[in-house]
Amino acid sequence: MSTPIVQEYISKTRKSREIFERAQKFIPGGDTYQIRLFDPYPFYAVAAKGAKLIDADGNEYVDFWLGHFSLILGHGHPEVTRAVRDQLEKTSHYGVPHELENELAELVVKMIPSVEMVRFSNSGTEAMMYAIRLARSYTRRQKIAKFEGNWHGGYDPLHVGVKPPFDKPMSSGLTEGATRDTVLLPYNDLEAAEKAIRSSELACVIMEPMMGAGGGLPAQEEFLKGLREVCSDHGTLLMFDEVVTGFRLGIGGAQEYYGVPADITILGKVLGGGFPVGAIGGPREIMDLMNPKGKERWDVSAHGGTFCGNPVSMIAGLTTLKLLEDGSLHKRMNSMASEVRKGISDIFQAKGVDVYVSGLANIFCPHFTREPVRDIRGAVRANRKRVKEYHFYLITKGFFFLPGHVGMICAAHTREDVEALLEHTEGYAKRLKQV
Ligand code: PLP
Repeated sequence: MSTPIVQEYISKTRKSREIFERAQKFIPGGDTYQIRLFDPYPFYAVAAKGAKLIDADGNEYVDFWLGHFSLILGHGHPEVTRAVRDQLEKTSHYGVPHELENELAELVVKMIPSVEMVRFSNSGTEAMMYAIRLARSYTRRQKIAKFEGNWHGGYDPLHVGVKPPFDKPMSSGLTEGATRDTVLLPYNDLEAAEKAIRSSELACVIMEPMMGAGGGLPAQEEFLKGLREVCSDHGTLLMFDEVVTGFRLGIGGAQEYYGVPADITILGKVLGGGFPVGAIGGPREIMDLMNPKGKERWDVSAHGGTFCGNPVSMIAGLTTLKLLEDGSLHKRMNSMASEVRKGISDIFQAKGVDVYVSGLANIFCPHFTREPVRDIRGAVRANRKRVKEYHFYLITKGFFFLPGHVGMICAAHTREDVEALLEHTEGYAKRLKQV
């Protein structure tokens, strides 16, 4: 791949290239998480502030990836930084109970109506893992269902059907035993889901109310409402993975946005205010299975971990949620994102380039296709190469999207950032016209 855009990137990122070459000697692939790798090599960050990332060569980028969407306030928000610094003066980890856990749990309960109790983990993946155990403990059923294109982290039973081709495993090392109890269902297809829920004795149906990694594709309201109904009718728990949507579609997450409550809610990202976190929330009756008091160990849905509820993540999350609580930041972010969605759509359409811009609230993602995209099958039918090239072009102009992934507006973005993004989108669309 040696286009003029790639040449421009290489000429601006010489130090990053050197660092990447060294990294590959000690880290397989050159980074700890493979989605961060893009061709010809990723730039290496050395600093970040607000909505800006700065790389090893001194290039600045307006960041629309925002620490995997964990940084809803932007990088290094002064109040979050101050709270974390104060906590670090005390300790980074007590390893015994402390009140910050209670305070954050209480705030989550206040913000998400279906949640009466909360347990904290260190990541979304980890929370999902324990939540499945919890659903199985509660229902005493084994099978679970998930949807095509939904990403819930790398836990084996959920690392299924994330991307086509669906007849091939998502990773090596996934055993038949680990994945055989997972039923894979098409997204936004209520009929298929109803059939499986009626016939399969499922412990839970797990879903992203809006697909994040799958391309910013929202569930249709009827689909979500129908799922709620059929799950309730068949004693199957409806589990919302709100790792991306939680506190992002609004302070009450997707459940508030759609008006559909979940039985179990999984949280992460924004909840940690930029620090590692995950959480499982739900009604007292379900959550109480994690309470060991007065129970035999085989009657308890075991959960825990060294860093669960660590005070740095708790105080960062608490500070972040309090800043979001009155909804004014969401209002501003959502209005800017809506401008971006319309702007991108208008710019490409005016040049005769088919585009469908998906997303909700402060989330947006272009799909270069004529058809509206409702599921991962539609997303992969679109011109994926073009969206990666568009994002890569933007990187050379100082706007960071992880190529091919959704973008988000944070509280630190400005109107000027949005205008400049649209200006450079226009620049890219003009190039397409010339090719
Ligand atoms: N669920 C969703 C919807 C996600 O987007 C992610 C991560 O991107 C996860 C779960 C896994 O979370 P983590 O990366 O914190 O393990």
